[in-house]
Amino acid sequence: MSHTHDAAKDEAKNEAAKPGNNFLRTIIERDLAQQEGQPQRHFAGTPGDAAHHAAGPLDPAKIRTRFPPEPNGYLHIGHAKSICLNFGLARDYGGICHLRFDDTNPEKEEQEYVDAIKEMVSWLGWDWNQGGTSHLFYASNYFGFMYRAAEHLISAGLAYVDEQTPEEMRANRGDFSTPGVNSPFRDLGVEHHLNRFREMRDGKHPDGAMVLRAKIDMASPNINLRDPALYRIRRATHHNTGDQWCIYPMYTFAHPIEDALERISHSICTLEFEDQRPFYDWLLGHLADGGLLERPLPHQYEFGRLNLSYVVTSKRKLRQLVDEGHVAGWDDPRMPTLVGMRRRGYTPESVRAMVEATGVTKSNAWLDYSVLDGCLRSDLEGKAARAMAVLDPVQLKLTNYADIFGSMEHREPCSAPAHPHLPELGQRSFSLGPALWIEREDFMEVPSKGYHRLYPGNKARLKAGYIIECTGCEKNEAGEITAVLATIVPDTKSGTPGADAVKVKGVITWVGAHEAIAAELRLYDRLFTEAQPDAGGRDFLEVINPSSLKVVTGYLEPSLAGAAADVKVQFERHGYFVADRVDHRSDKPVFNKITGLRDNWGAK
Ligand code: ATP
Ligand code: MG
Repeated sequence: MSHTHDAAKDEAKNEAAKPGNNFLRTIIERDLAQQEGQPQRHFAGTPGDAAHHAAGPLDPAKIRTRFPPEPNGYLHIGHAKSICLNFGLARDYGGICHLRFDDTNPEKEEQEYVDAIKEMVSWLGWDWNQGGTSHLFYASNYFGFMYRAAEHLISAGLAYVDEQTPEEMRANRGDFSTPGVNSPFRDLGVEHHLNRFREMRDGKHPDGAMVLRAKIDMASPNINLRDPALYRIRRATHHNTGDQWCIYPMYTFAHPIEDALERISHSICTLEFEDQRPFYDWLLGHLADGGLLERPLPHQYEFGRLNLSYVVTSKRKLRQLVDEGHVAGWDDPRMPTLVGMRRRGYTPESVRAMVEATGVTKSNAWLDYSVLDGCLRSDLEGKAARAMAVLDPVQLKLTNYADIFGSMEHREPCSAPAHPHLPELGQRSFSLGPALWIEREDFMEVPSKGYHRLYPGNKARLKAGYIIECTGCEKNEAGEITAVLATIVPDTKSGTPGADAVKVKGVITWVGAHEAIAAELRLYDRLFTEAQPDAGGRDFLEVINPSSLKVVTGYLEPSLAGAAADVKVQFERHGYFVADRVDHRSDKPVFNKITGLRDNWGAK
């Protein structure tokens, strides 16, 4: 009997789901311990410059973190890591986490994404409202300060307007082995650069004609310090500021300033920003020296990205999957987007447990989907109701039905607990009739070794029903099996004194044909055939799994009549399923398979 769920085994698999290491905790604990005698952070209650915060009280939040998405696409599993990390650390250390939309790039951002991001942060269980105050911010509200900061840098001789062509700039930047060459515009004087920058702002120059650059060191071994660009000309309507600006700050300039205005203490980002940290500190240090920003300043810390096996997590690639129709949309249940994962049936608890389990390290991790599935099983095992469902149906005819029950019209009531360990969930009721649906694989004309289900002459138990003895099958002209035949063994009903009189090794799940609910079942497999679809520059579209979705019509027991969208159930022996939140209707049920009862990822 292989299809009852072995919880103990699953528990062992979930060893991986123990909390992992998190070096950021060590850093925060050190910082909190060292705070005594140090200048404390003042916080005026809203983001702002040095004068604004200096006039405010000491910050009641021990730390401030932020999740800073760019609203240019849907969040994916990697973002969940960042969300849970930032909100989780704030929760654990008496801090506050801001949700900040990094909406400084006018071209790509849309309200649709802003709404979707807020919805997913809430879905994961986090709240940017703390102590009656909202900590939801938009970086575009800081454009005014950013402009002022840029003029300050120019006045201090720390920034200049460069009129080289993009090609010249690229050529003069040098590379890892060659130092860069100073721009001929670099030393034209503060007045000149201030005027030019104001002309940029006032729309006197076409897009791309010049950029504002920091004046640092064109020979720095860190290429990010070779006079990085701070502002560019771009005539584009911004969703928040409209046409007020035709110059926009670069991300590397904007991001540290956003952190500082919001009094972020720990600015946590992914590893690829490590080389940007010197510029982060350079910029904020100079703005604080100039009296524009209040100390103590935020610090940037980098951690390894989370990658999931058998999917891609770059927004650009996810968009390509949607735009080219490889999946049905951003919320396709095969997508590693949070909307997709929610629709697939993954719970916020399972996503949070997975993030916790993977820890926080200094290297980019490849996480196997099986870890996420293990977290899902741990979560649902203890709470999802059970039900019987037949996914690959063949009919079973009980040929002595009228002899046992007196008539073919009789319906014999049966019941089973909704959950084996949660009596408070009550009993499920269903009934036996003369014709049932069973799994095609539960009958073999000639049994293989160790097969204990139905074959001529063998007895097995109908789960929560009677013991039956298989007598044969019916076939069509093509030789295909159209029905399995069996007789009921009298006085063997589950829960009655006779139930144990006959010993059998096989248990058959079934649904009465007279009351079965036909349902569309969407059976998902991995989206890609390779664990790292885009490894080594491979075109990830070449390794799309052509059979990642199989749709079948199955039969469900009547306890699922009227199941609400998004309800999660364990179909006994098959796995966890969810009523599809988009397409499920009580008169036209649609269930998605979330995952099986045990790990199948390795065994394909
Ligand atoms: P993508 O590369 O998919 O477009 P992104 O980094 O550009 O993602 P943002 O909206 O800028 O997307 O990211 C918001 C936050 O989420 C950033 O702090 C970023 O570091 C973090 N983040 C993004 N992807 C991952 C990941 N795979 N693992 C951990 N954190 C991530
Ligand atoms: Mg980004």
